[in-house]
Amino acid sequence: MNNATKPTQEAHYSFFQGVERNFDKAAQYTRFESGILEQIKACNSVYRMKYPVRIGDKIEVIEAYRVQHSHHKLPCKGGIRYSMDVNQDEVMALAALMTYKCAIVNVPFGGAKGGIKINPKNYSVFELEKITRRYASELVKKNFIGPGIDVPAPDYGTGPREMSWIVDTYASLKPGEVDALACITGKPVTQGGVRGRTEATGLGVYYGIREVCNTAEDMKKLGLEVGIEGKKVIVQGLGNVGYHAAKFFYDNGAIIVGVAEYEGGIYDEKGLDIYKVVEYRKSTGSIMNYPGATNIVNSAETLEQPCDILIPAALENVINGGNAARIQAKIIGEGANGPLTPEADEILNQKGVIVVPDMYLNAGGVTVSYFEWLKNLSHVRFGRMDKRFSENQNSSILASVESLTGKKVTAIERTQILHGPDEVDLVYSGLEDTMIGSYHEIREALLSLDNKVDMRTAAFTVAINKVGVSYEELGIFP
Ligand code: GLU
Repeated sequence: MNNATKPTQEAHYSFFQGVERNFDKAAQYTRFESGILEQIKACNSVYRMKYPVRIGDKIEVIEAYRVQHSHHKLPCKGGIRYSMDVNQDEVMALAALMTYKCAIVNVPFGGAKGGIKINPKNYSVFELEKITRRYASELVKKNFIGPGIDVPAPDYGTGPREMSWIVDTYASLKPGEVDALACITGKPVTQGGVRGRTEATGLGVYYGIREVCNTAEDMKKLGLEVGIEGKKVIVQGLGNVGYHAAKFFYDNGAIIVGVAEYEGGIYDEKGLDIYKVVEYRKSTGSIMNYPGATNIVNSAETLEQPCDILIPAALENVINGGNAARIQAKIIGEGANGPLTPEADEILNQKGVIVVPDMYLNAGGVTVSYFEWLKNLSHVRFGRMDKRFSENQNSSILASVESLTGKKVTAIERTQILHGPDEVDLVYSGLEDTMIGSYHEIREALLSLDNKVDMRTAAFTVAINKVGVSYEELGIFP
């Protein structure tokens, strides 16, 4: 990220305080006593560790964190990020967002987050493996990881490879633990992962925004047509979330007019072929000078170009008091966690922009992580028991219909009708159902507050209500 795109955190709030501020805004619309609200807001356990790792011929002291924000449901859940921006406040804020996120999408976990303060690009794969495995064993030592305790996952700067190292370290320290695979999600499919996890967050972003765009009343207010087709979209970040979101928008008829990355941005109002942009970046090392597009040297200015939908899918605070007034999008979908500061939120709300909040919109990752965890605990691949049964049933229904009507379907139609669900089909449909259902819960909350608040505040009220009831029903120790 060049300096121009570097987030400028507004002076008076830390990231965690920003989350607390949003929480407080929503809490006034709930019925809980202040003690319960304080407990929901608090970070229950903060584990900061420093450990030595030999890097080349030197010993480096690595700074890392795991924060469990809420234990109202167990295990706790949330990713692990590798970034030089990792600090206690950031991990606490992200852990808190996980609590609310899980509640919103009805995933029965408490919130957590982890982070290691490194730039992974500065280390060899071997060194990264040492750093990761040592982090995992620190978590085991303090009982901060386990299928029923705390289940990490990928986040910024980590992926299936790191998850593999962690599950292997865990399993070797807990020999014979039959559910060991469920200690972490986002694993490669060969190591107990679930099909569809990689693209889950991006796909969830697409399903969520599609639902927003299918709400006629809201589109009318924004002066937009109903539906995704033809909508102009700008995506910031071609990482796992941004790339997959862009791909699903593109595949479903949206026009990707802009892409922003570290090295700068590109814009083409006629639309970019996202597959070709990614290929081009792979071969040249940059998106700049992509044929037919205009270069935007200051990457952050890409966000300010004309479009209907803006998807910030990189890091936090990229839309702030400094640039919010220049944003032209009518819908902002928070693919990243915390891409808008509270100041930006206020400015954009006043402009009538619909901001679809992170803790709903990027919950696809944790939703599919939940499916992976269930798969690991049940020790069976989704679809294994019922795929053939469904196909046989479909086949006999089709045979009856054909004999009753005297007509035959085509070979392609036959394949489509007979198809029993594979794992990925079930994961996608579970995710789609979750994103649609949760959107309508938030919308109902919004309507019950007479549209007086923004969507983030409404989402917070949904989350607070669920976590609050959980605490009440758990009972508080005397
Ligand atoms: N890191 C992702 C998030 O922020 C996924 C978390 C998970 O799957 O547990 O939502």
